[in-house]
Amino acid sequence: QVPTVAIVGRPNVGKSALFNRLVRRREALVYNTPGTGEHVTRDVREGKGRLADLSFQVLDTPGYEPDAPTDTVQGRATALTKTLIQRSDVTLFVVDGRSGAMPADFEIANWLRSFHVHSASLLFVANKCEGWDGVEAGEGNLYDLARLGMGFPIPVSAETGEGLGELYDHMQPHL
Ligand code: GDP
Ligand code: MG
Repeated sequence: QVPTVAIVGRPNVGKSALFNRLVRRREALVYNTPGTGEHVTRDVREGKGRLADLSFQVLDTPGYEPDAPTDTVQGRATALTKTLIQRSDVTLFVVDGRSGAMPADFEIANWLRSFHVHSASLLFVANKCEGWDGVEAGEGNLYDLARLGMGFPIPVSAETGEGLGELYDHMQPHL
């Protein structure tokens, strides 16, 4: 049984970029949110992920829409994302290391807390942290992101691959 890693977060934080970094090549869509046909932004992409000696399936989820009724496209996408997270060995909650905590990040954090019991496999990842001299230099908004109540984020850059060593250290025990 190949372990599974789900990527979740609000739009534009770099979920797909991180997916592409872990998968390194584009893969076919495997799930469509019911009723949406080929509507890409509501689909889940699944691919074969590699990080050093780790092999896993990666899921780029369609995300979470606050308070979407269950009979809407957004509601079904949210339900599908929840199911995928609950089936995954590791969930990467991705936020934007430059922007700080946004209302949508708080909503997702609260939503994750409402059903995610295995908190140890929920990893909090701040993307877009390339080229920093370090957290000590006070760059970005990592301390602001700690307000989400998910601990201190792991800074990475999906664009350059910086921080993936630390991400590996956190993922390895669960895979
Ligand atoms: P998603 O909506 O969460 O899937 O986000 P995308 O992967 O589509 O990325 C959203 C935007 O952020 C795009 O313009 C990306 O080029 C940019 N982006 C993604 N990862 C990084 C990163 O590591 N650093 C920077 N500077 N920009 C990034
Ligand atoms: Mg995306």
